[in-house]
Amino acid sequence: MTATPIDIVAWFVYVLASVMFVMGLHYMNSPKTARKGNFISAAGMVIAVAMAFIKLFVTGGYNWIAVGLLIAGIAVGAIAGVVSAKKVKMTDMPQLVSVFNTVGGGAAALVALNDILASDHTPNLVVLITAGLGVMIGSVTFTGSLIAAGKLQGIGFVKKMRLPGKSVWNVLFIVLMLASFVMLCVFPEQRLLWSVLTTVFALCYGLVFVIPIGGADMPVVISVLNACTGTAVAMSGLAIDNVALIVAGALVGAAGVTLSVLMSQAMNRPLMSVLAGGFGGSDAAAGAAEGPEGTMKETTADDVAVQLVYADKVIFVPGFGLAQAQAQRELADLGELLKEHGVEVEYAIHPVAGRMPGHMNVLLAEANVPYDELVDLDDVNPQFPSANVSLVVGANDVTNPAARKPGTPVSGMPILDVDKSQNVVVMKRGRGRGYAGIENELYFEDNTQMLFGDAKAGLQAVIAAVKELLD
Ligand code: NDP
Repeated sequence: MTATPIDIVAWFVYVLASVMFVMGLHYMNSPKTARKGNFISAAGMVIAVAMAFIKLFVTGGYNWIAVGLLIAGIAVGAIAGVVSAKKVKMTDMPQLVSVFNTVGGGAAALVALNDILASDHTPNLVVLITAGLGVMIGSVTFTGSLIAAGKLQGIGFVKKMRLPGKSVWNVLFIVLMLASFVMLCVFPEQRLLWSVLTTVFALCYGLVFVIPIGGADMPVVISVLNACTGTAVAMSGLAIDNVALIVAGALVGAAGVTLSVLMSQAMNRPLMSVLAGGFGGSDAAAGAAEGPEGTMKETTADDVAVQLVYADKVIFVPGFGLAQAQAQRELADLGELLKEHGVEVEYAIHPVAGRMPGHMNVLLAEANVPYDELVDLDDVNPQFPSANVSLVVGANDVTNPAARKPGTPVSGMPILDVDKSQNVVVMKRGRGRGYAGIENELYFEDNTQMLFGDAKAGLQAVIAAVKELLD
């Protein structure tokens, strides 16, 4: 089939959009240029969608009902996207990303399914393989991301879901899904039956894959699902021969795979063990894990201020609670006050502190904390014994010494060795547990004191007490 002028124009426009996606991703390397990167990528997507419409009108292959449905779909999607992105709290961003993965995977599966079923003639083997993979991966991502979003949102019944015999269910649905995919390729004349079965088994596999996973494995699962969304989109792009979809999908897929590998290394989790349905422990293990014994010692803002002012070296340990309280500016202000007084201040950054990769880096960059004061886990751990005070602000799991023992949901996860500091002050609202749902042994140590209350209010009280001491 020879290419028409509109095919050639569309190809160039899609390549331009693809270049904009690559540039956008490049700019997202740094918080300073990330907004620009987002804008360029979004503009690339607008150009690609506009071109798809222009091509539809020029080639005349449309009816007005379909065009109306397309416009309505774009309007609903755009409004939902803008409203949710503007309204969402920073701490709820991972759930939103999971929901985006859900719709991305689902859309890719539908595009691929349409390519298999809509044509009057039987698709060739290349289309069957690429579209079949798009259906399979997209459907797994759809249900898997839906469950992940529910777990991250803390929806009660989703968090409580258990799957006895998880390995059996995993293997069963992988076999059924792959078998129907192979049947689709071998018997394409019965493509309706085999593609529907592939979709159903893949949707079931997405559920049984994510339901048993929890605790410290969640960050890895989320990045794997992100990689799946991209791969499903790229496969659908190959099936319908759309270069913009192929490049956009490949970029998301490659970024997701890189992130999955980095996250599993950072969490000391073999990637394959996580994919096989949980490693070390799951949400279920959280309930079973025995809590530490002892009492917590409470302290006051005035006492914390004295400890900080007379220290030579202080390490701040931020976690999810800092993001929840939006107290990053107060923490940065306290750091500045202490530095002006001659105290050495550093921020210990755990790779999965918070609820998304790089969460603490983004938060602290927002508060203009100098980048060289943020110290990664491997570099900061040897420094804890020389810290006079470690101030833990809303961090829990990433400091839990239970990770050094087997049989808990955080077992094996590298932690910040806060317990090795000379003195530890933990700021949190009460006795709430961390994401993994277990008690933290650190809170019961002899060298630990608890300053209960919201992190923002607590830091404001400590700042006021420090100022009073220094006046
Ligand atoms: P955690 O979720 O373990 O603990 C946060 C603590 O903050 C809670 O114990 C809570 O206690 C306290 N807190 C909540 N709100 C406030 C507030 N307003 N003021 C003060 N304290 C508050 O956080 P970590 O950062 O230590 O660990 C992250 C966890 O999230 C890990 O288990 C990780 O695996 C998981 N995860 C990480 C993802 C990522 O990509 N980074 C993605 C998905 C999961 P209290 O209620 O008593 O105040």
